[in-house]
Amino acid sequence: MKSASGVESDGTIVVVGASLAGLRAVETLRSEGFGGRIALVGSELHLPYDRPPLSKQLLAGEWPPERCVLADRVRLDNLRVDQLLGVRAVSLNSSTRTVGLEDGTEIAADGVVIATGSYPRELPGTNALETVQALRTLDDSIRLSERVKQVGDGCRLVVVGAGFIGSEVASTCAAIGCRVTVVEALEVPLSSALGPEVGSVVASLHELFGVDLRTGVGVKEIVESTDSTDGSGGRSRARVLLSDETSLTADVVVVGIGVLPSTDWLEGSGLELDNGVLCDASLFAADRIVAAGDVARWRWQRPLAPVADATPVRIEHWQVAAEAGVAAARSLIAGRTSAASFDPVPYFWSDQYGVRIQMLGRPSPDDDLAVVAGSLKERKFVALYGKSGRLNAAVSIGKPRELMAFRPLLAGGTSFHDAMHLLN
Ligand code: FAD
Ligand code: NAP
Repeated sequence: MKSASGVESDGTIVVVGASLAGLRAVETLRSEGFGGRIALVGSELHLPYDRPPLSKQLLAGEWPPERCVLADRVRLDNLRVDQLLGVRAVSLNSSTRTVGLEDGTEIAADGVVIATGSYPRELPGTNALETVQALRTLDDSIRLSERVKQVGDGCRLVVVGAGFIGSEVASTCAAIGCRVTVVEALEVPLSSALGPEVGSVVASLHELFGVDLRTGVGVKEIVESTDSTDGSGGRSRARVLLSDETSLTADVVVVGIGVLPSTDWLEGSGLELDNGVLCDASLFAADRIVAAGDVARWRWQRPLAPVADATPVRIEHWQVAAEAGVAAARSLIAGRTSAASFDPVPYFWSDQYGVRIQMLGRPSPDDDLAVVAGSLKERKFVALYGKSGRLNAAVSIGKPRELMAFRPLLAGGTSFHDAMHLLN
């Protein structure tokens, strides 16, 4: 059998990363008729769970942790999966497709799905501090909730980074009684994801809901101290020194300054690693090795763009990870020569301060913006991003139905000009 052909139905497939993209890959392998062995390797002990509620419903205390589970034991048993949870993959030999685990086990596979996601960037010099944490895992979310509860009403929270994590944590924690300050290096939060106009609208929500937003400042240092005489019961607290020479006192500091793709275990594998696992248009990193989700950087062909413009992208959003898991499994079965390209219309949502921000497509930094429904001022609108006649993305606050009308246009490739007249 040629290596560019698909994995045979009685082969062995190892899926590394037991979260959204990995689970969708497993489900798809079975629904497409793969009858062989599937080993699902996950470094966390938990059953596969969903991350969006970690900064929203779980942190707010509205959902118990069990509600975040994506697939329980019964579901995994029905999928006939060898569950290797709580064990890290530490190596991959891409020529022999052998996956090495931290307990010394080696699994020789006919196909491999890489779905190891991403992990939080650290603020230098803070990883030993008790009061400083990231929010990526279920355990992180539970730890933050417990800390906030322990301190009680008026808990002083400093959030570093006003990206998606920072904004959602600020919104949720303000609603449960914390005093929140957000520190952001950019002048306009979320401007790299949403552009400056829409970024400013979203940023205005912080102030409206009583959150102190400090922009254009970085963190110089965080110093931790414990005072047993101040009524805190000896709890540690942090002094956050900012680049503008001001300082903030915090009971807890949440750092949300972006993520990095989890590719450390792939060093020396023979795969090309460059801000993620570099993949072709069908998510192949090598013959019978595919990648999906936050870890994958693939050649995405935008509609209306010239073929040569298929720039590798890595997109860190739920819907893309879920669809990539499905697409990667199909590619593995079809084989490299006949696999379809992965051409999603990227989508994400973010819930902050009772409003839902939704985006379809992917704007370019120099795009023009046109509001086609509602207004930015009332914080209820649909706006389009595009350049040189090309529609690149559509964003909305509070107008989901109108936004979704642009999906087929983004999928099919409609000009910016034609899209502007859709809602007229
Ligand atoms: P991950 O979910 O990161 O899963 C990767 C898994 O692989 C992890 O369980 C990890 O432990 C495991 N792993 C890593 N290395 C190894 C190894 N060497 N061996 C074995 N296992 C390994 N997106 C939206 O669009 N909307 C939202 O509202 C939204 N909210 C979010 C809220 C939070 C708090 C977070 C953290 C993310 C949110 N996202 C949201 C982003 C979305 O959840 C991610 O894009 C998605 O989880 C990516 O899925 P994934 O399977 O690629 O990676
Ligand atoms: P993010 O969205 O990339 O935002 C990080 C923000 O922190 C950026 O604005 C960044 O500015 C800023 N920053 C970087 N270094 C800083 C510093 N030293 N001090 C102050 N600010 C700094 O990443 P994130 O919010 O950490 O989210 C992590 C991941 O979770 C992402 O993949 C995100 O997509 C995902 N997530 C998604 C959602 C959603 O879609 N609703 C919700 C939560 C999480 P620069 O741009 O200048 O670096």
